[in-house]
Amino acid sequence: MTNPVSVLTVPAFQDNYLWLIHDGKHAVAVDPGDAAPILAALNDHGLVLTAILLTHHHADHIGGVPQLLQHYEVPVFGPENDAIAAVTDPLAEGDHLKVPGLDLELRVLDVPGHTRGHIAYVRDGAEPWVFCGDTLFAGGCGRLFEGTPEQMTSSLGKLAALPAETKVFCAHEYTLSNLRFALTVEPGNEFLQQRWHDESSKRERGMPTVPSTIGLERATNPFLRSWEPAIGELLAAEGRVAPNASPLAVFAALRQWKNNF
Ligand code: ZN
Ligand code: FE
Repeated sequence: MTNPVSVLTVPAFQDNYLWLIHDGKHAVAVDPGDAAPILAALNDHGLVLTAILLTHHHADHIGGVPQLLQHYEVPVFGPENDAIAAVTDPLAEGDHLKVPGLDLELRVLDVPGHTRGHIAYVRDGAEPWVFCGDTLFAGGCGRLFEGTPEQMTSSLGKLAALPAETKVFCAHEYTLSNLRFALTVEPGNEFLQQRWHDESSKRERGMPTVPSTIGLERATNPFLRSWEPAIGELLAAEGRVAPNASPLAVFAALRQWKNNF
């Protein structure tokens, strides 16, 4: 007997979201940067931890692993190309993972750019999900700490190619700041104006804006829209790219601009 799985949002630090995928009995933690809120959520919901999934090596995504392993002896899945000592089961693109304890299979994508080895976990099927760490954010994307604009656009392209209804479980609540930038870049985008209204009202009510969907990101996230002529023209008018610059050059200029926005 297995039960359907759902996702619990576990806020941590200033603006991180840690995720617990569970079936009412067993749970796996995605990017547990801090153990305390995960242990509290497991306790509150009467759940037993059966695995840990990591997207990349940054401390706010892995910091809670040692303490969780003191409470639960579970496998730790993570990217084979990011050096993470705690990983027992290294993963890379093309791997399919039968999640221990749950009726859930996840597919792995390599999404380098934020870090060299960053991976994402995809659930295919009728209710698709993606856990994408710090690669794609609601309205934005991660900083290029270890990768190139080429790598990041290719990684974001893989995520953007998922079905429109795919729920995007990213790791931070950066949405309003991302959308403020997006509106500067693409002021005439009506979907973006509507999204600003919707997400602002969620935040006013203290609600998370995550998960979003791939369809919403495609329509409003400038980092998935560097092919859009209006964006290239605005950047050229600002002197940030040459006229008729390639989508890749536009992406690189957008990322650069956002770093100092
Ligand atoms: Zn990170
Ligand atoms: Fe992070």
